[in-house]
Amino acid sequence: MKPTFSFIVPVFNEEETLEEAYRRLSAILASLDGEGQIILVDDGSRDRSLEMMRDLHRRDPRICYISLARNFGHQIAVTAGLRFAQGDAVIVLDADLQDPPELIPKMIEQWRAGYHVVYAQRTARQSEGPTKKLFAYLFYRVLRLLTDVDIPSDTGDFCLMDRKVVDVLNALPERGRYLRGLRAWIGFRQTAVPFEREPRFAGEVKYTFRKSFGLAVNGIVSFSRVPLRLATYLGLLVGCCALGMVVVVIYWRLFHPALPLIGYTIITAAIFFLAAVQLFCLGILGEYLGRVYEEVKGRPLFTLKEIAGIEGHAAKTASPPPFMRPASSQEIQPASNPER
Ligand code: UDP
Ligand code: MG
Repeated sequence: MKPTFSFIVPVFNEEETLEEAYRRLSAILASLDGEGQIILVDDGSRDRSLEMMRDLHRRDPRICYISLARNFGHQIAVTAGLRFAQGDAVIVLDADLQDPPELIPKMIEQWRAGYHVVYAQRTARQSEGPTKKLFAYLFYRVLRLLTDVDIPSDTGDFCLMDRKVVDVLNALPERGRYLRGLRAWIGFRQTAVPFEREPRFAGEVKYTFRKSFGLAVNGIVSFSRVPLRLATYLGLLVGCCALGMVVVVIYWRLFHPALPLIGYTIITAAIFFLAAVQLFCLGILGEYLGRVYEEVKGRPLFTLKEIAGIEGHAAKTASPPPFMRPASSQEIQPASNPER
């Protein structure tokens, strides 16, 4: 029978949290009025996470798992989960229980009230360092300033999405998956449910500063062309400075002919400054060019090692399903959900 609810849980080295996550998620699932599946997405874990998933799947048929062939990163893990989710409502949440599963019934209430996307919005972040809080606070504001898409502040990937929305997301061919941005971009009726982000249940943070920074840059570059324009503005600004300096030089020559011109230091400073501006602009260009390169290569977003419990995919672990080839958007949907 086709499940009504799919929970997608990306997992990267979460052996310490999986059992507890299963306990809390299955309790929520049992309380819901409809069939459900929990899709654990192993993002190339190097600990016992995958073995634990196999075991959970044996114990409880509502547990499905897919295992990516290496660590592709959180956004791709969620993307992979979305491709396989069969439910009418799909809920994405972290394995470390920072996104409290107990919020799900509230999200479902909103879904039943007619919203297509119900995203959780943080009112507080417990036990996260001041640097991370400040970084997140600034990032979301800068992102909103730079983009035309209305990406709500302080929201992560914890959300519920209607089947329609998931189908649209799955059909988007782009490789740069900044999911919370894409989710906002596609429109539909959206609403927020406030929540307090809890501390991690156990284990270490898997999003290193480098990964978080990469995600932030990805968010800005995927949704804004303002940085590209920045080069033009900087060029104009520096041009004006140069003109100003010409005026100073003429003034100096006319009114202080005896005094030597300001000289060596200012020239060196100007060279360094201009070199920095040029490298900065080149860097920005590189960010965009790199993304074009990624899109053009057309590689699949992820490769699969193992899959279990998902209807129609049980026997497909050996030969990759069609959407794993660089595919046109039409090919993507039927693979994940044959009856649609
Ligand atoms: N995660 C993942 N792949 C990664 C990094 C993280 O699938 O490369 C998962 C991780 O297991 C967790 C979720 O993404 O379920 C969020 O990661 P984490 O808790 O480390 O990040 P934070 O809560 O700081 O955003
Ligand atoms: Mg976390």
